[in-house]
Amino acid sequence: MRFLALAETLDRIESTTKRLEMVDLISKLLQVAEDDIRETVFLLQGKIAPDYEGIELGMAEKIAIRALSSLSGLREEAIESELVKKGDLGKIGEELLKSKKQASLFSEELTVRKVYESLVKIARTGGGGSQTRKLQLILDLLHSAEPLEVRYLLRIVTGKMRIGVADMTIVDSIAVAFGSKERSDDVERAYNIMPNLPELAYRAMAGGIDSLSTIRITPGIPIRSMLAERLPSLSEILDRMDGKFAIEYKYDGLRTQVHKMGTKVELFSRRLENITAQFPDIVKEIIENVKVDNAILDGEAVPYNMASNEMLPFQEISRRRGRKYDLNETIERIPVVLFLFDAMMLNGKSLMEIPYAERRLRLINSVKESSKIKVAKSRVVTDVESADKFFNEALEAGCEGIMAKSIEDKSVYKPGAREFLWIKYKREYQLEMEDTVDLVVVGAFGGQGKRSGGYGALLMAVYSEEEDMFKTICKLGSGFSDEQLESLPRMLKPYSISARDPRVESTMEADYWFSPSLVLEVKGAEITLSPTHTCCADVVRKGAGLAIRFPRFTGKWRSDKKAEDATNEGEILEMYHSQRKKILADNP
Ligand code: ATP
Repeated sequence: MRFLALAETLDRIESTTKRLEMVDLISKLLQVAEDDIRETVFLLQGKIAPDYEGIELGMAEKIAIRALSSLSGLREEAIESELVKKGDLGKIGEELLKSKKQASLFSEELTVRKVYESLVKIARTGGGGSQTRKLQLILDLLHSAEPLEVRYLLRIVTGKMRIGVADMTIVDSIAVAFGSKERSDDVERAYNIMPNLPELAYRAMAGGIDSLSTIRITPGIPIRSMLAERLPSLSEILDRMDGKFAIEYKYDGLRTQVHKMGTKVELFSRRLENITAQFPDIVKEIIENVKVDNAILDGEAVPYNMASNEMLPFQEISRRRGRKYDLNETIERIPVVLFLFDAMMLNGKSLMEIPYAERRLRLINSVKESSKIKVAKSRVVTDVESADKFFNEALEAGCEGIMAKSIEDKSVYKPGAREFLWIKYKREYQLEMEDTVDLVVVGAFGGQGKRSGGYGALLMAVYSEEEDMFKTICKLGSGFSDEQLESLPRMLKPYSISARDPRVESTMEADYWFSPSLVLEVKGAEITLSPTHTCCADVVRKGAGLAIRFPRFTGKWRSDKKAEDATNEGEILEMYHSQRKKILADNP
């Protein structure tokens, strides 16, 4: 098929806002694409491979400008300044070529296949001299292109398709082209387990829409992630789930779909990008601890402080993404733990059709938990009180809320679906505690890895004036520099005691105890209800105290303060109440 047919369709799509018209235009194009149907769909999307293959076109705008300059005779600087004004190299190229080429004969007609193959060559060209070779490849294409084709060639090659036909529009177009609009659901179902539209278009053309029903979940090809609905309260969730559901920690990290194929492992993100290269540590854990040959698992990778055994804020993990160079250093500095919460395939058999509880059981049986790979915390609840307790436990552990999951027979894994089989309940705000607090060190926990021999985390407390007691409020393991960590044993040595100080109230058993003396300045994300800490125990709610979520040492030793000058329990209670008022005001 001529590339011009594709360019003309794209041009017409650009001038309509009506989805039905777009579907009509694309389906007609697909019907005539024949052998070039895969390439046609890729180019409609401005791609040369599905996202999960991670192949980028990789042509810098500068080379495209150079090519256009050599073709049109206009200086590169002039094109660049036009680009600043108009922002669309495609249109600039089209105009330039219109005025220049009017009378010339086009050497050779461009076909969709030729364009696609050249783009693949451009993507594969690397190493020394690659810029020159890429320039030559794009020049060859531009030489044979008509002005309208130049517009889309330049946009595709620089990764700026602008109109970018949405995936669902192409799904509908495949249905209309080779069946009818009513078959869109069938195409979508196939798309959810094989998100490769060019391949689906090809199969629909070759075998009809019915042939798509034979597509199965396949190791190496990510399926679209199942998503959750939301409800504003745990009691509504309980009603909706008919009085019984599984409640899981909702980890705040990066959605990670694991594909294990023998000794090979691939990882995919929520957007189905291949993220394997950024997580060699997870790959290793999967190989060592997933005890089946073939598996497709769903989970969340969470940044983690191994020494203090705490989850870290989600933002930390984004530092891993896109990193190529100092990966080893980053792995050491920002380790991640993978929390697995579902199994969609085990030993080559799809589990998507069986209920959640059964899938979870099989997941547990297939994974050997280690320090870096775990199965998500989960429990079955039948009342709001236990659900609420679990929710607060989750927050205290550093999670952002809970996931409620149906345990009814119909609780299958639905790729790409957002339904009430999964319901999320989380804090809708990201609050920074407005003020810092000054906390007293009352205990410590032994460290691991880099921190072995020293302290992994400190047990921190506030002061209660009325009772003359120190009550625990958090474990603190973040915010310390290496030097500060090193100096801790020396600084705490004078206060070291063999058992808990009688003025310390704690439900936690620390590895080391100190008489309350050293005061540190700490900042956290928010104050949450806590099933473990003793600060304000039973004050806000029976059976719960208050804790600081994501506490970090600010770097300030408050040596100017005695332990009794530390933040007191009453202040924490006030901070908790004013935080609640702010939440209510922000979420009326
Ligand atoms: P959404 O996915 O609903 O569009 P979002 O991307 O903001 O919104 P969240 O609101 O954070 O995501 O909720 C869903 C996400 O929660 C999942 O995509 C997954 O990454 C994460 N998650 C954490 N723990 C779990 C769990 N136990 N079960 C399912 N998902 C979990």
